[in-house]
Parts: sequence; C-alpha cells; structure tokens
Amino acid sequence: METIRVVVWGENVHEQENEIVRSIYPRGMHTVIAEGLETNPGFTVGTATLQEPEHGLSENRLAETDVLIWWGHKAHGEVADEIVDRVQKRVLEGMGLIALHSAHYSKIFKRLMGTTCSLTWREAGEKERVWVCNPGHPIAAGIDRYFEVEQSEMYGEPFAIPPAEEQVFISWYEGGEVFRSGCCWRRGAGKIFYFGPGHETYPIYYDKMVQRVIANAVRWAKPEGLWIDSCPQIPAHEAPEKIEVKGPRLHKDTDEGYR
Ligand code: ZN
Repeated sequence: METIRVVVWGENVHEQENEIVRSIYPRGMHTVIAEGLETNPGFTVGTATLQEPEHGLSENRLAETDVLIWWGHKAHGEVADEIVDRVQKRVLEGMGLIALHSAHYSKIFKRLMGTTCSLTWREAGEKERVWVCNPGHPIAAGIDRYFEVEQSEMYGEPFAIPPAEEQVFISWYEGGEVFRSGCCWRRGAGKIFYFGPGHETYPIYYDKMVQRVIANAVRWAKPEGLWIDSCPQIPAHEAPEKIEVKGPRLHKDTDEGYR
C-alpha cells in the first residue's frame, strides 16, 4: 500500500502560555491533529514546531514530506522567511499544503495566495454548520449534506483570497455570517487546501468529522508528480525541428541557462 508522509506543523505557543488552551491540548494541537491522522491506514505522520531548529523543517525533512499541515496564530511573524521560501519551493515542486484556521494569516499561506487573506471574526463559542458544496469532491467523502461544530470561532466574509479553484465547504454560523471554509488551489505542481474550523480554545481537533476532513484533504493533496523548476535556454540546434537563427540576438548559446 502507498504511504503518504505527513508532517503536522504547530506553532505551539498558546499551548505553552494559555491555561485554557493547555487544558484542552496539553501536548500541543499538532499532537492531537497527528494522532487523528495516525488512525488512517497508509499515513506516516510526524510533527514539527516553531521552537525546533529550522522550525523542524530542514531541507531534508521537507524533501521527504508529501503533505505539510500548518497551524499558526500568535507567532506568524516569528517564522523565518528562509523557511517560508523553502516551503513555497516544495509546494511548487508538488508537496501538498493544508492550512488550518488562523493559518489564513501565516506567511506561507499569504505568499502562496498573493492576497492579504483577511477575514471577519468573532470569538463567541457559537455553532458552525459546515455545508458541503460538492458532494463528489474527495475532501467531502463520507460527509452528508453538512456537519456541525458545536463551539467555533466565527470566520466570515469577505475572505480576501483569490477565488478557490474548487469550493468544497461553506460555513454558516449561529450569528448569521457565512464563510468559504473549505477551498482548494494549485500552485505549480502542489495542491493547497484551506480549512476554517480549529480555534484553540475549543476541542475542535478531537472532532471525528473534522479529523475526517483533514485525512481526506491529505489524500487529495498528496503529490501527483514532481516539478523541479528551472528556466533553461533551448538553443536553436536543439530545437525539435530544424531552424535557422534569424535576426539580432541578445544572448549567446553560452549564456547562463545553456545546457
Ligand atoms: Zn482562532
């Protein structure tokens, strides 16, 4: 059976500093997300945190990662730009990325979207009804018309993202707002999924339906191929059809990029 190598990245700050969050996630949110995934056959799951050297995301680790899950909130600014560059490169090569909840404002998600990724929000412990927009989508597999998260943070429109290439979920909240809570994009060879639920003062990552969505998203986001990006010059004598060089040229065949 094919194995999908997953790394769950957790900022791991509120779990250390906030008594409420620590009481719900004493070993960190990343641990609970990882343990939820480990119940699925075919997943090899590890974790990484902000506090580790290179935030636990060395070149070698990322090279051996098929899908990276990202949860951050309080310390987006502490993520080194060098690591953001590295993760972006791996996504463009084909690694899947799943951005959870407040990762909408992470450096890596904003980088990949190219927009501000702002939204409206309210922390009132209200019910969230997560509606399935596309019952045939693999990320919605095993979910009926909707599922509910009993206590959630409201994330509402407008959500300053580029339009999703596939809309999987839209959430409705008790207070009346709606939100595009499950969105898919591709960047380069990589697949990206954003999923809204996951505020840290509620036990959302213990929810079986939430765990199912994340597992479905891992299967969807796994690499379909590898694209090592480069920008080679193909000189005239290597063109698939024979051609004569005509007109003035800026570049010699020996310029950078000549193979
Ligand atoms: Zn939150």
